[in-house]
Amino acid sequence: MQQHILCSKCQNKHSVYFRQYSGEYLCRSCFIFSIEEKTCRTISKFSMVNYGDKIAVGVSGGKDSLSLLLVLKHLFERKKTNDIIAITIDEGIAGYRDESLKIVKEFCSRLNIKNEIFSYKELFGMDMDESMSMRPSEKMTSCSICGTFRRRAIDIATDYVGANVIATGHNLDDQLQSFMINVISGDINRIGWTYPEPIYYGTKKIKKIKPFIEIYEREIVFYALQQNIPFQSEQCPYQNESIRSEIREFFNSLEENRSGVKYNTYNSILKISKILKNMDNSLKNKCNICGHESTRPICSVCNNLKILKND
Ligand code: SF4
Ligand code: ZN
Repeated sequence: MQQHILCSKCQNKHSVYFRQYSGEYLCRSCFIFSIEEKTCRTISKFSMVNYGDKIAVGVSGGKDSLSLLLVLKHLFERKKTNDIIAITIDEGIAGYRDESLKIVKEFCSRLNIKNEIFSYKELFGMDMDESMSMRPSEKMTSCSICGTFRRRAIDIATDYVGANVIATGHNLDDQLQSFMINVISGDINRIGWTYPEPIYYGTKKIKKIKPFIEIYEREIVFYALQQNIPFQSEQCPYQNESIRSEIREFFNSLEENRSGVKYNTYNSILKISKILKNMDNSLKNKCNICGHESTRPICSVCNNLKILKND
């Protein structure tokens, strides 16, 4: 970054960031403002939050979720229209989660936001380390088990804390990766669920929202750095089993020489997911075991538990 270039927005301070897809140079405060404003526009574009909604933010300790907590705190504290609570899921991965639980606790107390922790062990009777040793084969990947449990754990936690909105830190890169994973695995119904307009689900009509869905991952990382948000240094020991990292690298290499390619792909996915969302009635079914909404007679959580416990 050439420090002598002035910010394209305020024309006053030195730029610290070059936004390649728009050609703008931004100073620290204009960059921070742009991220918070973009989040605000996404929330309003997809009607994500209404007056009086209680928002549970899923906070893992990674840069996305901690940044989201800070941005939502700034956006809603100013208006004083919505309560925010942080919920954290402890997967039970030795040597990995402990550091992030500590980071989340300290960050929440810095922001004066309540933090509630829920573990796989207490919710499903087994933690991730145990489920990895119980799985019948490596075809059942760590992240597919973990992702299924995490989605359900977040649902339960949101209900428990009395929130009616759950906000997660998924960014534009995550959205591209999820789309590709669903295409590769043939899970077309799920593409419809990723449309950012919230779906009301369950008897309590909880909404799931992703306010960072239109922001590049690298910009969230830069926002976190500029705001001195602490970073978790430990990597999950199971993450290499996921195809997600390969898809991430693929899109990053495309973007390097074809600036804006991720954003164009995101816009195409938006249109596809909207069509599929309007066609999909699959969530009207209920799981025969737990009664949770499900596309199949037995939901993915109950199905995983049956396989792991060899029932
Ligand atoms: Fe779970 Fe996979 Fe994330 Fe590890 S990388 S925490 S196994 S989803
Ligand atoms: Zn079930």
